Formats: sequence, C-alpha cells, structure tokens
Amino acid sequence: MKVYMDNAATTKLSPDVLNAMMPYLTDIYGNASSVHAFGREAREGVEHARNQVAAAINASPDEIFFTAGGTESDNMAIKGVAHKYAKKGKHIITTAIEHHAVLHTCEALEKEGYEVTYLPVDEDGLISVEQVRAAMRDDTLLVTVMFANNEVGTIEPIAEIGALCRERNVLFHTDAVQAVCHIPIDVRAMNIDLMSISAHKFHGPKGIGALYCRKGIVLEPVIVGGAQERKRRAGTENVAGIVGLGAAIERAHKNMSADMARVSALRDKLISGILKNIPHVKLNGHPTQRLPQNVNFSIRYIEGESILLMLDINGIAASSGSACTSGSLDPSHVLLAMGIPHEIAHGSLRLTLSDMTTDEEVDYVLETLTKTVKRLRDMSPLVPAGTVY
Ligand SMILES: *Cc1c(COP(=O)(O)O)cnc(C)c1O
Repeated sequence: MKVYMDNAATTKLSPDVLNAMMPYLTDIYGNASSVHAFGREAREGVEHARNQVAAAINASPDEIFFTAGGTESDNMAIKGVAHKYAKKGKHIITTAIEHHAVLHTCEALEKEGYEVTYLPVDEDGLISVEQVRAAMRDDTLLVTVMFANNEVGTIEPIAEIGALCRERNVLFHTDAVQAVCHIPIDVRAMNIDLMSISAHKFHGPKGIGALYCRKGIVLEPVIVGGAQERKRRAGTENVAGIVGLGAAIERAHKNMSADMARVSALRDKLISGILKNIPHVKLNGHPTQRLPQNVNFSIRYIEGESILLMLDINGIAASSGSACTSGSLDPSHVLLAMGIPHEIAHGSLRLTLSDMTTDEEVDYVLETLTKTVKRLRDMSPLVPAGTVY
C-alpha cells in the first residue's frame, strides 16, 4: 500500500483542477495583458480566478494579487510594507515559529537596519495577543504572525491580533498558507491587512499563490518590470496556474465544513491510536486548537530520520518537520521554540492528511508505525535499561 501523509509539504493536484487548467495550457495561450481576442480570453480566466480567491476569504477581487507562491507572497508583503512605510518606523513584530519564508525575510530586513521582535511561544506553540500588545512600540510598522503552524498545526489567535493591530493602527500580515481551504477565514471579520496563500497546499498547482492586500495599502514591489498585477508584481501572468489556484480554492470551499469534520476525525483516530499503541510519545502542538490535517509526535529513544526511512520502505510518506529543513540534521526551530529538548525534538514525526486521505490509509499507518517504533527501539542504544516499551 502506498500512503501519502506529507500534505503540509505539498498536495496532489486534483483532477478537477487539472481539467480547469487544461485549456489554458493548450488553446488559450494568449498573453493576458494583450488587447487582442487571444489576450482577452486569457484575461477572462485570470479575472475569474481572482473572483474565486476573493470570494473564498471575503475579500474584494481588486485586493487579490497573484504571485509565484507562498514564499513570494510573504516576501512581497513584509518587504513591501517595510520599504513603503519605513517613515513610520522600522520595528516589526513576528514569532519564533514562522516559516523560513517569513523568518529569513525578517532577517534580511534586519541587515537593512530594521528591528525585529521574535515573540516566544508556549509549550503548545501558541502566542497570545497580550504578548503582541506588550511588544508594540510607537515605531512598530508591521505585525506578521502565521495563521497556523506548518509543523505542529497550532492555530494562532489571529482575529484577536487583528483587532489589536487595527485599534493601534499597525499593519497586520498573516502567512495563512497552511490554513486557507482547511479552516474558515474571513479577512474582514478578522481585521487582516495582508495574507499569503499558496495553491499547492490545497490540491492546486505548484509555483502559484496570491497575496491579499487590503484596499488602500500600498506596497513597494519586490519584483519590478512590466505593469502586471496593477504594478505590484511584474511578469507575464502564469495564466494556467492562476486558473488552477482559482479552481482549487473554489473546490475546497464547496466541501470545507464536511471535509473539516471528516479529516479531523481521521486526525483524532491517528492521535488516539498512537497514544494507545506506542508508549513514551508526546503530541506536539495544541491538543484542540490545531489544524484538522496535522499530527505531530515526539517519539522517545529513536531518531526521526530512521522512522521516516522505515515508513518509506513500507510505502508511507511522512516527514520529521518542514520539507524545507529536511536533509539538515538540526532539529526543528519550531519544536525548540516550544521548549522541547534537542534529543526529543530529534525523534519527531509529522503526519499530515488531506481531504483525499482514507480510513484504510490511517489504519495502515497506525499498524505500520507501531511495528516500526517497536523494531527501532529494539535496536536503539538510546533506550535506558529496564524501560518498558
Ligand atoms: C509551504 C509554506 C510556505 C511556502 O509556500 P510555497 O508556495 O511553497 O513557496 C510558506 N509558509 C507556510 C506556512 C508554508 O506551509
């Protein structure tokens, strides 16, 4: 059996999405900025997708800008605001558990003379609105806090932080790449000013994303050239990708409440099965305030990498942290920020589901993982003498 449980890294393209994209990879090949009929037909696809994205998050279409993915959206939002509004101040507030697309962007701005506060998180990976309030200064120009964490699935108090930022007149960006299409998001109700979206995290194509940027906010562009995307993001539009993003976001939102219930139930079955079958494990991330699709455990006395290899041999794709840091031997910055000791963080396993995950797959993973952990512990020199496992 082959089971894909690394949906936080990327997801399978939905056949419906591919169908929607296909005409734009074949017959409708005009440049969406051309004024002739070929161009106008491509433009229609782009604007239809803009409406689909806007509708899904309660934005208006002129607040949606297409990018080459989540990483670019994060760069565009954070650098764009920092460079445009530097006169207001040069202080940015973020968290210690952001995706590297946000952390490395903040570090690049520090080299330019900006000051960044990295808020610590609690043992569940949560930050509080009080922490954000306490960190705010007169020269704070941006708060950027991820909607939900990609490694441990913890959902941050975004509406509360949004309300605070609006009240204090500070711009608020959220990297919602793991949250969009998985939990409900309303950018108006939540007072979100800027939000990053990536299609390949919800069965859309890779290399395409969007930035929601509230009306009235101006960004210094990161990518300059032509006048595409109302001069915010230059470059010929990736029409097929954009159409795929629109189709994928609409597809996911049609079934979202049913999928949330079904996927959360599979998640909880995995979590309770692991807790029941395998001793000396700890669930990472918030027990209830977590993404429907995320399971993350620390498994004592064995290395995460060896679990992954054994699962892979048995046809199961999982991960030990984020895809971007796998291959490096450093434990995850997210787990370390949550206060998990190095040696325990090394034995972590992330299983991420999708609306395509089945009950049979969950059963197979539970059975295989239980056997795998037992076998690895039998061979592990790290198990203290006399430990029952
Ligand atoms: C995947 C991911 C990104 C990067 O998105 P890409 O489209 O792959 O560039 C950014 N932030 C989070 C939280 C992610 O999970």
